[in-house]
Amino acid sequence: MVSRVIPVNPFDLVLFGATGDLAQRKILPGLYHRFEVGQMPEDACIIGSARSDMDSDAFRDQIRASMAEFAPEFKKDVLDRFLDRVSYVSVDASGDAGWSDLAKALRPDVVRAFYLSVGPSLFSGIAHRLNEHGLATPDSRIVVEKPFGHDLASAKALNEGLRACFKEHQIYRIDHYLGKETVQNLMALRFANSLFEPLWNSTHIDHVQITVAETVSVEGRGSYYDQSGAMRDMVQNHLVQLLCLTAMEPPSKFAPNAVRDEKVKVIEALDPVEPKDIARGQYRAEHGQGGYVDHVGNPASRTESFIALKVHLGNWRWAGVPFYLRTGKRLRARESEIAVFFRDPPHTIFPNVGPLHGNVLVIRLQPDEGIILRTTIKDPGPGGFRLSDVALDMSFADALGVEASAPDAYERLVMDVIRGDQTLFMRGDEAEAAWAWVDPIIQGWEDRGDRPARYDQGSSGPEEALMLMHRDGRRWRQIGG
Ligand code: NAP
Repeated sequence: MVSRVIPVNPFDLVLFGATGDLAQRKILPGLYHRFEVGQMPEDACIIGSARSDMDSDAFRDQIRASMAEFAPEFKKDVLDRFLDRVSYVSVDASGDAGWSDLAKALRPDVVRAFYLSVGPSLFSGIAHRLNEHGLATPDSRIVVEKPFGHDLASAKALNEGLRACFKEHQIYRIDHYLGKETVQNLMALRFANSLFEPLWNSTHIDHVQITVAETVSVEGRGSYYDQSGAMRDMVQNHLVQLLCLTAMEPPSKFAPNAVRDEKVKVIEALDPVEPKDIARGQYRAEHGQGGYVDHVGNPASRTESFIALKVHLGNWRWAGVPFYLRTGKRLRARESEIAVFFRDPPHTIFPNVGPLHGNVLVIRLQPDEGIILRTTIKDPGPGGFRLSDVALDMSFADALGVEASAPDAYERLVMDVIRGDQTLFMRGDEAEAAWAWVDPIIQGWEDRGDRPARYDQGSSGPEEALMLMHRDGRRWRQIGG
């Protein structure tokens, strides 16, 4: 299936932190892809910016090298035309140098977006300087990367800093999980089909498992990660967002505030989590490979590289339905999914087959985005009546053609910024509500001096995470299974 590409309006995109890892690995290759498929108009301009002193040609050479490494399938003639749209201005985001040069590079009558792919300590300062130097127009957009705060107080301060210069409708807080095709498909599945919604409640759903498993370690981000841990780095944003989309009430329309209103209600309905419902882990050193504490260079670290939680929502739809969340590093496989477990059939009519198991709907985010429904069928062939469990598998790449699975989350999100569509971005109150839920959990384990349990690299996490499930008579889906 060929996707329909609607070009966006002409724009100037200023990319702060343009020489950094995220910009070079994701954002610029993503923009190239949108250019290649014709979504980015020929007269769009991308202005890269960082402190490094270089001219536009040197910056274009840097992009060529990054494309060769991260998007080697690019077409040379298209890349040349794309790079004609790219320039570079050196700006010190925390000083006064370069801002007037940046002002000269901007056009008055096109959409203007500022993408802050820099450390969060620079966010408020850049917003302030954009305003001070007259670069921020009433229609400009500002995009901020994660992490959005370290706790509730810092998230509030960040919101205040941004809102002093930009209105909420101009602020785009990125959570790139929301740009994934399958995550949006979760909304389509729930709200564009009549099949699931009547079953989507505590009468029919037994529990939900949300897993974001990584095989990588802290990847050069050790000092940042050791201050954050899995709870701040992954749960507060990505896993809570996935939980919101799974659990939210149908919005009245697919519009930014209608969707985000419903997500905030989910976060506000989250019950406090008891210590017995949390399992934290740290991967250990083994077979000559360093462990977590070696990778972050902090032998005394109590930061978790793995966390599993059992979470309840205090509302009518989900009363009594646990949501089990888990995420960690150095696990058995790289895998992200939401698995909705339906209740077992109440009675078995088939002889000699034992109890039947409920259906499981798996929304797979990575790898190989798609949706799977585990169902029980009769084993084909003659002979006795035997049942087996099969997966009705809809891989998007297979079902919709390769193109459907190709666009990276960042590509879609940057185009949404240009279009002025905030549906897939976190609102300020949403970020604060998530921190308000997370803060007491972290405070609790800090007050008690809890230490994370150790787990083997390449495993599914610590024993405590398995026990969290076993205690309830349930099992995690196997990571990489
Ligand atoms: P990075 O590789 O360290 O790059 C930082 C960029 O900011 C560089 O271009 C740097 O260039 C520029 N910079 C630093 N200080 C500056 C200043 N005072 N004025 C102007 N530019 C300045 O960081 P990154 O990994 O790309 O991450 C960027 C942001 O994205 C961070 O908030 C990070 O948390 C977030 N993020 C990153 C990833 C990822 O995969 N990398 C994923 C999710 C979120 P100069 O030194 O030349 O100024």
